Amino acid sequence: MGTECSCLAASPEKAGKEKLKNSKIIFVVGGPGSGKGTQCEKIVQKYGYTHLSTGDLLRAEVNSGSERGKKLSAIMEKGELVPLDTVLDMLRDAMVAKADVSKGFLIDGYPREVKQGEEFEKKIAPPTLLLYVDAGKDTMVKRLLKRGETSGRVDDNEETIKKRLDTYYKATEPVIAFYEKRGIVRKLNAEGTVDEVFVQVCTQLDALK
Ligand code: ADP
Ligand code: MG
Repeated sequence: MGTECSCLAASPEKAGKEKLKNSKIIFVVGGPGSGKGTQCEKIVQKYGYTHLSTGDLLRAEVNSGSERGKKLSAIMEKGELVPLDTVLDMLRDAMVAKADVSKGFLIDGYPREVKQGEEFEKKIAPPTLLLYVDAGKDTMVKRLLKRGETSGRVDDNEETIKKRLDTYYKATEPVIAFYEKRGIVRKLNAEGTVDEVFVQVCTQLDALK
């Protein structure tokens, strides 16, 4: 049997790479409470990009009751970290499923550390741009405590916020330095109002077209 396009018969990894090679991929990076999710929502509305948050994907997989979800649930119940490969497979599957219709992908809250970025590139594709949502520590804490009043998220309390900020400064900030060397980092001053930040977002995304 002659396979015209060998990529179809190849591993999901190769097929995924082939499908996604012309996609715009935007990493949205910033501390907890900096406003990543808020800006992503607005980008989806205006630009029709697909918003993928790894936390949401994991929670959805668990809730679906799939085999993968059951394994994840067991890991998460033990309080262990979900393996990087699993997170990446989920991201890739979600991206491939939308590759034909999506105008671009917003990868929210990933990579959390440099290694995650390197693995993403190996398995999926290099990012087009990194939007760095930059807010000061005090601003982030204030927003998270406010969000905690209604979010129902178990990690929006003072104790956990401190830990998340620590992890962010240690593990995630190096990600920004890593991509800065490539010239794809676009820093947003995220201290202002939602709309003020979004104006900066639009300037960066409009420049991509
Ligand atoms: P992240 O996804 O980066 O953790 P969110 O988008 O969930 O952050 O925002 C955290 C909280 O701060 C939310 O309650 C949100 O409504 C609020 N928020 C986001 N951006 C701003 C802003 N520019 N000004 C004031 N509050 C904001
Ligand atoms: Mg978020």
